[in-house]
Amino acid sequence: MQIGVLALQGAFIEHEQMLSKLGVSSFEIRQKKDLEIPIDGLIIPGGESTVQGKLLRELDLFDSLKQRIEQGLPVFGTCAGLLLLAKKIKNDDRSHLATMDITAVRNAYGRQLGSFYTEEEVKGIGVIPMTFIRAPYIESVSNGTEILARVEGHIVAARQKNQLVTAFHPELLEDLSVHRYFVDMVKGALGQQWGGTNDKQRP
Ligand code: GLN
Repeated sequence: MQIGVLALQGAFIEHEQMLSKLGVSSFEIRQKKDLEIPIDGLIIPGGESTVQGKLLRELDLFDSLKQRIEQGLPVFGTCAGLLLLAKKIKNDDRSHLATMDITAVRNAYGRQLGSFYTEEEVKGIGVIPMTFIRAPYIESVSNGTEILARVEGHIVAARQKNQLVTAFHPELLEDLSVHRYFVDMVKGALGQQWGGTNDKQRP
């Protein structure tokens, strides 16, 4: 199994380190020719969604990544990655990959509350630590998107089939459980591809 990590800007190295702790190899996607290498999943890191969105278009990565996600490539977006996947960003003129049926609010906690730490339950995982940095939250979900976590009433994690998003940054803490959850999603997709299931082989 190999997971591609979009490495245009932001906290991509931290995701690679989490995957390595789980014994999963990762591959940095920086330019179009990197898409020739087969990947079984994709992580879109936190950073600045406007910068990443612009680079995705300029480097001509946009259409093929969007198409692969729409065809079922498992994807995990954190923070800016959540914004890149959202079909609608309430306080932004444009959306980006727009593959996931969520409406997100950018910089939703305001300048003063830009960064904070909490612990909350994520459905299917349990109570985990969460770090928020100038984070978005999800205002609403549709078309079968499942809400996985809320903090103070706001949706901060969700899943729609092959797409997982968190408004917080699990890659910045020690807890591996969200990455393990995503690796299990990738294994599930690989199992379906080969007509079987291999989800007993945890890393
Ligand atoms: N505020 C950033 C944005 O709008 C996201 C912040 C982050 O990824 N930590 O893209």
